[in-house]
Amino acid sequence: MSITTSDRLLFEELDARDQLANFRQQFELPERQIYLNGNSLGPPPRDVWPTMRRVLSEWRDDLNVSWFRHGWLDLPRLTGDLIGELVGAAPGQVVIGDSTSVNLYKLLCGAHALRPDRDIVLTHRENFPSDLYVAEGVARTLGKRVVLVDSDDLGDAIDDFVAVVMASHVDYRTSAVLPLRDVTATAHRHGALVLWDLSHSAGVLSPDLDANNVDLAVGCGYKYLSGGPGAPAYMYLARRLIENFDQPVTGWLGHRDPFAFDEVFAPDQSVGRLQTGCPPILSVAALHAALRVVGAAPVDQVRAKSLALTQQFVELAEQELAGTGIKLIGPRCAEHRGSHISLRHPAAKRIVVELAARGVIVEYRAPDLLRCGLAPLYVRFVDVWDAIQVLVTVAEELALKEVNTP
Ligand SMILES: *Cc1c(COP(=O)(O)O)cnc(C)c1O
Repeated sequence: MSITTSDRLLFEELDARDQLANFRQQFELPERQIYLNGNSLGPPPRDVWPTMRRVLSEWRDDLNVSWFRHGWLDLPRLTGDLIGELVGAAPGQVVIGDSTSVNLYKLLCGAHALRPDRDIVLTHRENFPSDLYVAEGVARTLGKRVVLVDSDDLGDAIDDFVAVVMASHVDYRTSAVLPLRDVTATAHRHGALVLWDLSHSAGVLSPDLDANNVDLAVGCGYKYLSGGPGAPAYMYLARRLIENFDQPVTGWLGHRDPFAFDEVFAPDQSVGRLQTGCPPILSVAALHAALRVVGAAPVDQVRAKSLALTQQFVELAEQELAGTGIKLIGPRCAEHRGSHISLRHPAAKRIVVELAARGVIVEYRAPDLLRCGLAPLYVRFVDVWDAIQVLVTVAEELALKEVNTP
């Protein structure tokens, strides 16, 4: 090992200068562990506890009246606006509900309704599998086609037959950031709509939805947003599209007056038309509480720390893991990375188990990846240093050696 303990001091200094350092104490983190998996399930902010107690009391004390008295009916849109702040969307364009997968279905069908003479959903094969499965389901339902291309070819593959381009802003495996602005502009030149999945970017990297003229977006509530297991997801619908947007799962909560109990569906005039049934208030309240914490951090400071963390991780890993056969994957340039780093090794599964036994929590992604999420609000620079030292120990104990293939 070339590094000495004094090098840890450099990382301690980075922490001492970190403007976001105080956010860490607002989260409940597992003791004696380095948690590098917040991009899979974010840890709970402490404020979630009093919020949940309050909402449980509202339920107990005021029962059904709470929908109005305690603003439960408005909560999905208010919570949506908090997400809007993280993703560059002005108020009134984001609403919470269901899961990312279900929301993709609603928005993909709605997009096709706006481009009825076009047949293609264009997406990239590196996209998250659930996104691809939903696209296939939409194609089956509507008699359309899914066209898959490599991420790098996405922009070039857009033509005048494409109804909607569906892509993930940050790749869940490689952390590669797709060129959201360029792909969106190219799609628009060809008359297509764009639907971005922000699951691995919202909370660490703003897609600037309004400024980039994005049409539609979805994302997950339980990753960097720390909304809790199975937290409701969200949908963004650009204001200019709301009036004519027709999603297929029209339910009473998307009606302009749910309590009129009309026989005929009339869509809400706001982004609320994307809702279907009753929102899960306990879960929405937890997400709302979490977003009050996550949203208090300035977006540009969060991105700056994320870039610094991933850069330190990459430089240290390259230096320390040489000869072990553990390879960094993904973009070399920090600007093109999200906030996680993946490492590749044939024994990845074993390594992840050994790391966990030593208190370093990362995620295994089949077949050979270890994914390390560096969430800027609670991961410290010393955590990067310590995690890599543990990784080096594990590599030594497993006697990992680079195998030179001729
Ligand atoms: C995590 C993730 C999802 C999760 O979808 P759910 O339906 O909310 O479980 C979808 N898409 C991407 C890109 C993800 O990273």
